[in-house]
Amino acid sequence: MKEIPLFLIERLKNQYGEELMKEIVKGFQKKTVTFRINHLKTTLGEIEKVLEEEAILFQKIFWFDDAFLIENKTEEEIRLLDIYKEGKIYLQSLSSMLPVLFLDLEEGMSILDMAAAPGGKTTEIASIYQDKILITACEKNKIRADRLRYNIKKQGVRRATVLESDASKLDEYFSFDSILLDAPCSGSGTLQRENSNSYFKEELIETTKKLQKVLLKKAVQILKPGSTMIYSTCSILEEENELQIEALLNEKLVEVVPLDFPNDIPLLPSKIFGTVVVKPTSLYEGFFIAKLRKR
Ligand code: SAM
Repeated sequence: MKEIPLFLIERLKNQYGEELMKEIVKGFQKKTVTFRINHLKTTLGEIEKVLEEEAILFQKIFWFDDAFLIENKTEEEIRLLDIYKEGKIYLQSLSSMLPVLFLDLEEGMSILDMAAAPGGKTTEIASIYQDKILITACEKNKIRADRLRYNIKKQGVRRATVLESDASKLDEYFSFDSILLDAPCSGSGTLQRENSNSYFKEELIETTKKLQKVLLKKAVQILKPGSTMIYSTCSILEEENELQIEALLNEKLVEVVPLDFPNDIPLLPSKIFGTVVVKPTSLYEGFFIAKLRKR
């Protein structure tokens, strides 16, 4: 268990028990190479043809037709391909593709992607809905907002506007049909045993918890009543996940819309029925997803 901070091991043990904690730590490893195709620039047929021509071995993912698992290339090698350079594919972890699949969106609707950089989910929404959703992609950090703009342009998305600002300070008169809050988090679901993980400190959990709380409150404030939103994190700690949702439920601000989750994705037990915690494995990063309806 070298390199995984002791305090995290303790927290995981308290939350999930000894056995699951060991499985989680085992799952903290370098992930396989996965990407998603961009419907704004290509088709499944074109991508499969290119991969075959380049002798790139791939598998399809049963719950998402757009996702590819690459068996014999590194991310660096995929970045050299024209289909990557032209924005026809987007390198993205499988877990990170999941939250967008649970949004309730229809052509012409407006969505706020509240913590959007580098744009994996902004561009996924645009791809799936053929750029027919009005996306406001908010990002506080300037350098990351530039990256977001770059990716939006590269992926050929036209109907996404970047709002470089602190989402917690958004005017209360904003009103969206849908919100995705892929919140800043400790990243406890995405650690790798091989890396030093030196950024992962106990204080990080405390600061992100506060930020998540403020962002969630703001999200609920500017979501249209009766509409749904997705809250996701790449953490598997209940403080950043279930306990945040529980606070909203206690205030009677939202109700949980149970997720109809694909079987066969490895899960950890969640304390709130209908929300999911994806278990870290060689294929999946640890992730939390909750769907909420504003009362
Ligand atoms: N959704 C992104 C994607 O799929 O590519 C990943 C988002 S990442 C988990 C969280 C982002 O939130 C970071 O880029 C961070 O800079 C940004 N962030 C942190 N605090 C913020 C705030 N108060 N308002 C807006 N964005 C914020």
